[in-house]
Amino acid sequence: MKKNQRKENPFPFSDTNKRYYTMDYFLRQKFGKKACKIPIDAGFTCPNRDGTKGFGGCTFCSEKGSGEFTLGNGHSITEQIDAGAKMMHQKWEDAILIPYFQSFTNTYAPVTVLREKYTEALSNPLCNGICIATRPDCITNEISVLLHKIAEEQFLMLELGLQTIHDKTADVLNRRYGYADFLKTYDMVKDLFICVHLINGLPGEDHKMMLDSAKALAELKPSAIKFHALYIVEGTQMSKSYLRGEFDTITKEEYVNTVCDQLEVLPPQTVIERVTGDGACNTLIAPEWSRKKLTVQNEIDKELYRRQSYQGIKFSL
Ligand code: SF4
Repeated sequence: MKKNQRKENPFPFSDTNKRYYTMDYFLRQKFGKKACKIPIDAGFTCPNRDGTKGFGGCTFCSEKGSGEFTLGNGHSITEQIDAGAKMMHQKWEDAILIPYFQSFTNTYAPVTVLREKYTEALSNPLCNGICIATRPDCITNEISVLLHKIAEEQFLMLELGLQTIHDKTADVLNRRYGYADFLKTYDMVKDLFICVHLINGLPGEDHKMMLDSAKALAELKPSAIKFHALYIVEGTQMSKSYLRGEFDTITKEEYVNTVCDQLEVLPPQTVIERVTGDGACNTLIAPEWSRKKLTVQNEIDKELYRRQSYQGIKFSL
């Protein structure tokens, strides 16, 4: 079945049965071989936790600032890279490694501190390039200059947490920046390789609202997008309201259908970093189906095939 799906795949940026532009395909084309990200906790915090913007953080954010797969900041950046490299190279012997500054807000420090931390990763002989995740309201002109300078010489991917374009939902999430703030920063850094994060299944959002987030991003034509479902994780603010029965998580069927609809409206040249996240952690409360990442990916492939559709089929300039 998959063999036929590959042969019949009309999508141009794929050499498998995937009918969307996977990050794996993009990185293989760029580096000529498999490339993997190594998650790093560089010891930053977040303005939404230290009181600058708010306390407690976004309601879905875990104690680790979404850095569940890092070794933790009790280890130096170099130690974290070495440990990650060992693990990745057991699986893919000669894979290219990209350090991924993942936990909390990785541009939230004076530019001298940022330069020092990024340089430690960039100068590691095991690595190639850098990936930096941050809030859009934490990029000053000075930081933008630093990022552009790095990108002149090495591969740099900047991940911007947006989750939704709807400010009403953002308020419920305690995100503490609006879509207008995102657009302002996006304009400043849009010539970098930008990956925008979207979450499907946020409280109060229906199918149209999720699709509208994808349509708005389609107009901006970011380099990449990362999708995942809302995960309810132990110890988060959101877990309390979920356990009180105040909202429900998205079903697998709704999720698959929504992601396929979103892929259809995006530009075919936008790389899809992921269509579902790594929900399989010890602290996950819901949705249970998200633990089976491969099954979700397969369901998306099957649905696009069933529709005889692919990323960008409904995209118009
Ligand atoms: S901005 Fe990021 S790190 Fe900060 S609380 Fe929200 S999700 Fe967590």
